[in-house]
Amino acid sequence: MLYLIIATVITTLMTIFVALDSDGLAENVVRTNWINVICMSLCIVATVYSRYLLNRQKIRESIDVFIISLTIGLSLQCYFNGGIGEAPIVAAPFIIVLTGYIASIWFMLKITIGICCGLIALYVFGVLGVKPPDINVNDPIETFLRFDQLVYCLIVMLLSYQTTKIFVNDYGGILSKLTEDQNKLDYIANHDKLTGLPNRYACEKHFDKFSNAHSRNNGLSHLLLFIDIDNFKNINTRFGHSGGDIALSTVARRLDIVFASDNATVSRIGGDEFIVMLSIVADGISNKLQQAMDYLARPLTIFDETEYVTCSMGVVEVKHEHSSFKEEYLKADLAMNRAKKTGKNRFCRFDQSITDSAFKTIAIGAGLHEALEKDQFVLFYQAQVDLVSGKVIGAEALIRWQKDGQLIPPNDFIPIAEKNGSIMPITEWVISQSCQDCAKWHKLGFDDLTISINIPSMMLAKGGLPELIKAACLHSKLDPKFLEIELTESVLLENGSKINSQLNELRKMGVSLAIDDFGTGYSNLGYLSQLNVQKLKVDKCFVTGLLESPHNQAIIQAVVHIASSFGMKTVIEGVEEQSIVPTLQHLDCTIGQGYLWSKPVCFNDFMTFVSVQKSHNSVELGLVTA
Ligand code: C2E
Ligand code: CA
Ligand code: CA
Repeated sequence: MLYLIIATVITTLMTIFVALDSDGLAENVVRTNWINVICMSLCIVATVYSRYLLNRQKIRESIDVFIISLTIGLSLQCYFNGGIGEAPIVAAPFIIVLTGYIASIWFMLKITIGICCGLIALYVFGVLGVKPPDINVNDPIETFLRFDQLVYCLIVMLLSYQTTKIFVNDYGGILSKLTEDQNKLDYIANHDKLTGLPNRYACEKHFDKFSNAHSRNNGLSHLLLFIDIDNFKNINTRFGHSGGDIALSTVARRLDIVFASDNATVSRIGGDEFIVMLSIVADGISNKLQQAMDYLARPLTIFDETEYVTCSMGVVEVKHEHSSFKEEYLKADLAMNRAKKTGKNRFCRFDQSITDSAFKTIAIGAGLHEALEKDQFVLFYQAQVDLVSGKVIGAEALIRWQKDGQLIPPNDFIPIAEKNGSIMPITEWVISQSCQDCAKWHKLGFDDLTISINIPSMMLAKGGLPELIKAACLHSKLDPKFLEIELTESVLLENGSKINSQLNELRKMGVSLAIDDFGTGYSNLGYLSQLNVQKLKVDKCFVTGLLESPHNQAIIQAVVHIASSFGMKTVIEGVEEQSIVPTLQHLDCTIGQGYLWSKPVCFNDFMTFVSVQKSHNSVELGLVTA
């Protein structure tokens, strides 16, 4: 519209100017001026039309209209003005150059030929005496163009064509290289290097289209799946990063295959996390997801070894057109975490209870930071009993959180503390408090009791554990030989020399080392020979129903054999019934810990318990409750 107005204004101004300027001029000159105005107006109209086409994305047509109208306008000007004047001799090469830049070389050639033909025609018209009716009879020009002028003009046109062609070709080469580079950069920016799948950035972009599809595909459910490989750390630890890469690529390929028929988009959004977006009929969801889980759980080969890699999946249904990626991703992530917590290798659909428990987790995480300041933690002690003599030899320190009159168990907050970093100051407190309490036991006459402390992996990964323990022992005046640290197998697998040097340092100080929950993780006997381990703690899952399970008995027996061949003791956790004690003794287990003797109890109750056992010279087989 703006262009149309400008065009109308220019044409009107030209008309007024010619009309005012006509006085006193010869009639034929005035007529020629009017013809010029009409020619130019037509060119302006063509230009506006060209602009209109451009707005409608008809770029090719727009350029054609523009160039052709300019060329025709110029030719008519030359004809009606009696030859090629100063303006057209500049305008013609300009049109050629312009065509080269905005259209194509091929079109420029056509325009150049057209202009040259026009010039030749002008010359021929001049020779034949074909002149426009209005040309001034008194005009000295007999011909439009002299032959030398024609040759000169043709040379100028051809030179314009040739130089533009050279320039445009070079420029075009650079442009196409740039386009190629741009395409490569686009690919890199949008794809994951290892798997070739769309990355997080591309995934987010795709989500907008995906959530909008909600309004179009009625009858289909739009699902966002969050898939995470189970125990991926262990794969990396065992096979190194190249082994981990094989697992990742395999999972990526399997996801692509299993969802191929659903027109799904599979992306890798980082680490071992994948997102799948698919639209599917509501009835088929459970089947499809189970089929995917089964397919993902198939064994795979890493460096010639058959591995069983499983995944956990969180599922969320995208119900609103305007839902945001962040929101849906978070829900799917929460559902995936629920799947992990409830056994792994399964899928879990998002529901409100998941958000509620997530809020609880957030509240716990926030509260942990001030729990130390407010002195809300307390240590409970669970007796460890010599299975031969029946004597209490020590206790494991187990933390509790006293909050709003409630006693929160460690499983509810330790994993959160491990994630938000508050585990470090908590462990420092546990170490210091345990040392003080153990020193008190000794002062109270129980001077041979040992104390076991659970040490999370981050503590060793961070470094400085020996210094911390040394300071705590010095402060409480506790001989470090009464101290035992419990570590899980994964800690020892994960970290190399940094861990070993700290553990050696601790050993030199006299601190003992126990492997907690032995047999539940990835058991690698290699580290047992390298590290100076004194005890293996068999997890309670092997003890439950021991009498009915020859399988569990065999496991315990195997652990006892391993322990004794390395000169270690075996601690059996979770002993609840007297009936299994003879079996444990028969299997040569050395130490027992469990509700049978005592639940974890507070400092005073533990003192009462050990006083009673001391007076009996061995434990009663009764139960002390917390
Ligand atoms: P854990 O180190 O394997 O501790 C043994 C757990 O088994 C304790 O649970 C204990 O109460 C429970 N238990 C002992 N005997 C029996 C039994 O006969 N039957 C049954 N059913 N359970 C028994 P608790 O105190 O709830 O601790 C759970 C986990 O929390 C611990 O497992 C440990 O991994 C962690 N934890 C506890 N205290 C600390 C701590 O101070 N620091 C760190 N980092 N982790 C801790
Ligand atoms: Ca433990
Ligand atoms: Ca344990």
